[in-house]
Amino acid sequence: MKKISIIIPAYNEEEALPYLYERLSKLMEQVNNYEFEILFINDGSKDNTLNIIKDLRKKDERICYVNFSRNFGKEIAMIAGLDYAKGDCAIFMDADLQDPPELIPELIKYWEEGYDDVYARRKTRAGETFFKKFTSKMYYKVLQNLTRIEIQKDTGDFRLLDRRCVNALRKLRESQRCSKSMFSWIGYNKKEVLYDRDPRIAGKTKWNYKKLVDLAIDGITSFTTSPLRISTYISIPTFLTLFVYFIYVIIKSNIINEPIQAFQATILLILFFSGIQIMLIGIIGEYLGRIFNETKNRPLYFVDEYNGEKETNEIK
Ligand code: UDP
Ligand code: MG
Repeated sequence: MKKISIIIPAYNEEEALPYLYERLSKLMEQVNNYEFEILFINDGSKDNTLNIIKDLRKKDERICYVNFSRNFGKEIAMIAGLDYAKGDCAIFMDADLQDPPELIPELIKYWEEGYDDVYARRKTRAGETFFKKFTSKMYYKVLQNLTRIEIQKDTGDFRLLDRRCVNALRKLRESQRCSKSMFSWIGYNKKEVLYDRDPRIAGKTKWNYKKLVDLAIDGITSFTTSPLRISTYISIPTFLTLFVYFIYVIIKSNIINEPIQAFQATILLILFFSGIQIMLIGIIGEYLGRIFNETKNRPLYFVDEYNGEKETNEIK
């Protein structure tokens, strides 16, 4: 029998877990020609999440868990999930039931037809603000315009990955991760499935706009160096203007012999160009920061325990 790993990153999800388990066990009853592994990654939750998962494991052997030593963020929880998943394929799902488990049979169907990466695309997104929907749409647009690799629109992390995709993703061990672009980057046979995104079942969203902006910047900088080229694009018209202005001033002062009233223009120019410079330094800093983080070459996460077994971090 083929094994399917369902990877669920969970951070302070005590309220959602009982509902989640109920929906998942219904699903596993219904899809009984596969073996299931439900792998929770407890991402340093400060509430009762870990204990609830442990209790679930006592009842149900299919529940597995990795407990992180602290909160590492969802992206890192996802790669840990891939590292620990034992299935022939892996499915990513949020703990808050925004991704309906009822869609999983359809994902499996396409996997059996030979697709390697079956991703769920949102038709609608209930329970999210207009502003969040709008910013996310703009983000996809920008990301797509900056790169040659096709990015799937309106797609979260809810997807099924064949073992070879799982292994491919495990080879990408950069520390500032953007899974969305990695899924596109590895390629392979992709298939889209449409669904309606539900509102969160319980608890609060862990996202705030700072986190989203961070993710957006990571997404762009991890994927393309084209922002570095902004400096080139800005500097070309800048130097052209400068050249024309220079000629104008030379002619005015030396041939027409008029004095130059330049202080206002000077102030404006100083403000303008220092603004541009600050922006460009910021962009360079972006990449420098990434180089700094990658050269440290640290492990992506530390595990406290896996299925009750304490991790010793022994060096093999
Ligand atoms: N999550 C996590 N670590 C974090 C933040 C979130 O593992 O630091 C998990 C969270 O438990 C949930 C999923 O990531 O299962 C998506 O989070 P959330 O629902 O808060 O995000 P949203 O759906 O609002 O984008
Ligand atoms: Mg959610």
